[in-house]
Amino acid sequence: MTAVETLQLIAQETKGCTLCGLHAGRTKAVPGEGPPDAKIMLIGEGPGYHEDRQGRPFVGPSGQFLDELLAMAGLQRSEVFIGNVVKCRPPQNRDPQPDEVATCTEHYLFRQIEAINPTVIVTLGRFSMTLFMPREKISRIHGQPRTVDGRLIVPMLHPAAALHQPQNRPLIEADFQRLPEILANAEHEAASKAAAPAPQQNDEPPLEQLSLF
Ligand code: URA
Repeated sequence: MTAVETLQLIAQETKGCTLCGLHAGRTKAVPGEGPPDAKIMLIGEGPGYHEDRQGRPFVGPSGQFLDELLAMAGLQRSEVFIGNVVKCRPPQNRDPQPDEVATCTEHYLFRQIEAINPTVIVTLGRFSMTLFMPREKISRIHGQPRTVDGRLIVPMLHPAAALHQPQNRPLIEADFQRLPEILANAEHEAASKAAAPAPQQNDEPPLEQLSLF
């Protein structure tokens, strides 16, 4: 199955999903959106009021700020994939519960990551970061890229955290501004690895050693 087909299938599945209690309160599921070959994948927490109405991620006030942050990084929304930990809005925007997170990520988010295979994953907020770095504190490690199970993860504050607490704004802006450099470094490293000679497949000694026998 191609990445496009997988993402379409997942979007279809989320619309009819009843695997956890969140489905009961949703207007629309929000599977996420963006190019299937996006180099950058942003993962938020879960849909809010506006997202639930429209079925699209980050379209409310946090989304407007996210668009500004992307612009500061020289990026447009149309070139990144934007998803969420949970695909249905938690009631009154409460925190998603561990069982909801486990079900939704196992069935949808992790399959989306596999299909898109992004160069960089940006986690937005605590819930998203915890999927990859369960013991870390976002206040300590935000903006610092880290490889987890072969994937480059950059934890960032949630845009809503900066909207609600203006002292967070410079932090999240600075982290986003570093994103192009982080992506360029990751691509450079991937290209160097691809260009490196393949390791020897067998135990045969090289030819110059053979001549000694
Ligand atoms: N907050 C999120 O975490 N995700 C959205 O899609 C919108 C707001």
